[in-house]
Amino acid sequence: MRRTVPTPTRKPRRPKGQGQWAMGHREPLNKNEQSKKDDNPLNVRQRIEGIYSVRGFDSIDPADLRGRFRWWGLYTQRKPGIAGGKTGILEEEELDDKYFMMRVRMDGGQLNLAQLRTVADISKDFGRDTADVTDRQNVQYHWIRVEDVPEIWRRLEAVGLDTQEACGDCPRVVLGSPVAGVSKDEVIDPTEQIQAIHDRFVGDRSLSNLPRKFKSSIGWLPDNPYETNDISLIGAEHPEHGPGFDIWVGGGLSTNPMFAQRLGVWVAQEDIEEVWVNVVRIFRDWGYRRLRTRARLKFLVKDWGAEKFREVLESEAYLGRKLPDLDAPPVPEKLLDHIGIHEQTDGNYYIGVAPVVGRVSGTLLGQLADVAEKYGSDRVRTTALQKLLLLDVPADRVEDAVADLEAIGLSARPSQWRRATMACTGIQFCKLAIVDTKDRARDLVAELEKRVPELDVPISIHVNGCPNACARTQTADIGLKGQLVTVDGEQVEGFQVHLGGGHAAAASLGRKSRGLKVASAELGDYVERLTRRYLSARSEGETFAQ
Ligand code: SF4
Repeated sequence: MRRTVPTPTRKPRRPKGQGQWAMGHREPLNKNEQSKKDDNPLNVRQRIEGIYSVRGFDSIDPADLRGRFRWWGLYTQRKPGIAGGKTGILEEEELDDKYFMMRVRMDGGQLNLAQLRTVADISKDFGRDTADVTDRQNVQYHWIRVEDVPEIWRRLEAVGLDTQEACGDCPRVVLGSPVAGVSKDEVIDPTEQIQAIHDRFVGDRSLSNLPRKFKSSIGWLPDNPYETNDISLIGAEHPEHGPGFDIWVGGGLSTNPMFAQRLGVWVAQEDIEEVWVNVVRIFRDWGYRRLRTRARLKFLVKDWGAEKFREVLESEAYLGRKLPDLDAPPVPEKLLDHIGIHEQTDGNYYIGVAPVVGRVSGTLLGQLADVAEKYGSDRVRTTALQKLLLLDVPADRVEDAVADLEAIGLSARPSQWRRATMACTGIQFCKLAIVDTKDRARDLVAELEKRVPELDVPISIHVNGCPNACARTQTADIGLKGQLVTVDGEQVEGFQVHLGGGHAAAASLGRKSRGLKVASAELGDYVERLTRRYLSARSEGETFAQ
């Protein structure tokens, strides 16, 4: 008789936890989580001040150097001369230079004259005159020595600036409209709320260990990339409650680009802080902590959907009350860059100027401060498009101010190429970079200004050194993602091309096709060809993305 062999009964597989604290997963599941558990990263400041700045770079504990330093805006920069594509091949310490990139957070992009002069002087005294205006409204230095960090903090803090949580798994700088409080098109100015968020929650230890970074944007106008932040609050009229804010959550680009989703609720100005902090708390409690690659809020929002996210936000554990429904407000026509000359509500003018791909210097920022002072202005703003604004210029002195700005290399009437090109840090300083970006983009702008000077509408070009998309590869007309490409059997610096991305009414993620790659040296030819095709075939009012 044939014996039947019993089929082994398999235990049903328990779904793998994602490391969510709210589900009881408190044990660290990767080395980043372990490092944050071992010591609150904010504590590293005492060691920088008391030990590392005294004993020098070689005394720094590696867990602090490559982890906790970020909570104070510090990353090691890339050792010069290491070719692209070495990340993952070389050990991290082989890529590390003994100098730092330091990011100064400027919530809302607002600077007064004393702050601008301080930022400029620090660059000259400690950063070899480097300063980049980033696409998060920060200023970023390079070549910073750990020995100088306490003095830099002392100078920044004396004028009300800081580097706290400028990087790391925490609430990063809050983007704001660079024309908040002066624009004729603004209905509510949320500067006070942005400042309150900075003062109350930056450095709050209950929020300093998030699954990953948390990016925010709060402003009435569509002048920040509101679709690509973890949280964005953008101005909206409610038919019953009046002006307030429409809230979006779960945006982010990088290798898994996703646009934020509207929650369909209306937020009153006075509720901004409360809503903001509860969204951060949801991320802290429910965000995925197992894999770094799935730890951004966008993955949770994608899995839950906007409806469930709203339910959790309004639940007892968080807000504990319902927010008014808000139907989708009209989509803004375009992302505003504020370049040029614009009248303010008080009759003065603001002037938007375009440094090439955000690269400035301490010297130039000092010169900008001189121009501001000459025209009686105490206010300068940075933008999320790597541009600068000078506020409060009297009407009868605008053209003189424009000429003075032009004389220091800050054009209020830039070419369309200069106006709409951005670049990330790239191989010069970034350890993850595969290709050069800033210099390549600067040369590209100069080349295109000669080749296609007749371009009369902006075509945005975002140059990125790797797939991380810090300069928003996927939301440009022409998005460039650095990679090595093969030309005549040799690997050379190049880019994968994403076409047709955009914001606001043109919101879409640029399309890429496998073959769409271009060597760095061929970039000028490639963009010229694309542009000429667009210029000759476009119909009345048709944009590049259409
Ligand atoms: Fe560095 Fe890549 Fe970000 Fe550029 S996109 S700054 S290369 S991480």
